[in-house]
Amino acid sequence: MNQIEQTPNGKDYFEPMHSAEHLINGAIARTLGCGRAFSTHIEKKKSKCDFRFHRNLTPEELTGIERTVNEQIASHADVRDEILTAAEAAARYNLSRLPEGATTVRIVHIGDFDSCPCIGAHVSNTAEIPPVRLISSDCADGVLRVRFKFVK
Ligand SMILES: [Zn+2]
Repeated sequence: MNQIEQTPNGKDYFEPMHSAEHLINGAIARTLGCGRAFSTHIEKKKSKCDFRFHRNLTPEELTGIERTVNEQIASHADVRDEILTAAEAAARYNLSRLPEGATTVRIVHIGDFDSCPCIGAHVSNTAEIPPVRLISSDCADGVLRVRFKFVK
């Protein structure tokens, strides 16, 4: 569950950066059909997500994903939680990253764009997320790594 790790610097960047990660995951999963990242590292200056995928993003895909994410940020979408039973959640979402034995699952919705199970801390509206830049991506051994940061 490395997506919920916090650094000693605390939440000042974590909540917006992690919330941006949700949007990037949603945009990449839609674009590539590869599912969400299996590993994520959230840091203040630069974060990264690793996906199981067989090739690198094209420049057009990278630009399109970045545009989609920034459109969602600019749309000032509300971020809300929904608590489901584990059975309800399992029917609708990929629960592979949840702890064994959980009886309820928190689903985090960002507007109507993205929904996924998560226990981390998030912004309450995408207006709190600065614009995002996808810095680079590469692919090796079936792992597509995408790096991103805030523009300012
Ligand atoms: Zn989250």
